[in-house]
Amino acid sequence: PQLANQIAAGEVVERPASVVKELVENSLDAGASQIDIDIEKGGSKLIRIRDNGAGIAEHELVLALSRHATSKISELNDLAQITSLGFRGEALASISSVSRLTLTSKPAGQTAAWQAQAEGRDMTVTVKPAAHPDGTSIEVVDLFFNTPARRKFLRTDKTEFSHIDELVKRLALSRFDVSWQLNHNGQSVRRLPQATTLIARQKRVAALCGRAFAEHAAFIENSYGGLKLSGWLLAPQACQQQPLCQYSYVNGRMMRDKLLNHAIRQAYGERLSQEQQPGFVLFLEIDPAEVDVNVHPAKHEVRFHQARLVHDFVVSALSDALAQLTD
Ligand code: ADP
Ligand code: MG
Repeated sequence: PQLANQIAAGEVVERPASVVKELVENSLDAGASQIDIDIEKGGSKLIRIRDNGAGIAEHELVLALSRHATSKISELNDLAQITSLGFRGEALASISSVSRLTLTSKPAGQTAAWQAQAEGRDMTVTVKPAAHPDGTSIEVVDLFFNTPARRKFLRTDKTEFSHIDELVKRLALSRFDVSWQLNHNGQSVRRLPQATTLIARQKRVAALCGRAFAEHAAFIENSYGGLKLSGWLLAPQACQQQPLCQYSYVNGRMMRDKLLNHAIRQAYGERLSQEQQPGFVLFLEIDPAEVDVNVHPAKHEVRFHQARLVHDFVVSALSDALAQLTD
């Protein structure tokens, strides 16, 4: 199984940031409201994710580390309507086949915590008692230690960490209800408390997107039919040549979508010069039946069934907000 898992890992685990992505998505799926991430040496030495989510029962630990074991798809039917972020039950098995992975967990309400580790070519899982608060910790040590070809492709610690930081940033912008901590080599890089009020959320956006966003961004909220657009938009006079913050989400998923980007640019219109870059953190909510999100999972693209309608709604919602910003 190790080889099969390593082959699967080739698809899932490209670099430390992809490990962080899979593990954090599992924590979010488990309903965590606090996620702490410790990184050493850009993630090549250590990636540790600790959450306060639902935890994993002792008898499910072994299963969690085996391929195609997912607790999230009960019937084939569900595949068409996966709302959880996880996919195919491959991530943990894949990651543990190319690292030294330790899984420690305690489901809420249980008294004992357990630790599991998969080792050797046959990926035998050993389980032993451990100490852990409610929730789950996953430690990934020495990523790619047994796949030298992949390890060689890692960039500098700084570059690998910047990919992780970017990922955490875009996750933190989409989940204000979660408290995030990110440390690198023992130093605190991000510390974002849960943000439940609008002011607290605004503070988080400013912390992640920079001061211009604190001072020159407007909060917008607009809906039309089944469409809802909310978020922050940077005043044209504060837009620079370097894009400050450009994040858009469709039903909570980060997207880099041509149609949305076009609509945003069109809304700014003449207010921006050729060189200026818009700044935005925008959330579009739409009936899931009206979009295909699986067009290009890796490219963050969606296909709207009523593309024209969505485009025009975004242009008009943002134009209104921008008109007020510049008045
Ligand atoms: P998937 O997310 O597709 O189900 P994974 O390999 O990522 O597959 O995870 C396997 C299983 O391990 C999950 O279905 C879940 O039951 C369990 N699991 C993994 N991480 C966590 C976590 N942080 N908290 C609770 N359960 C988890
Ligand atoms: Mg998963």
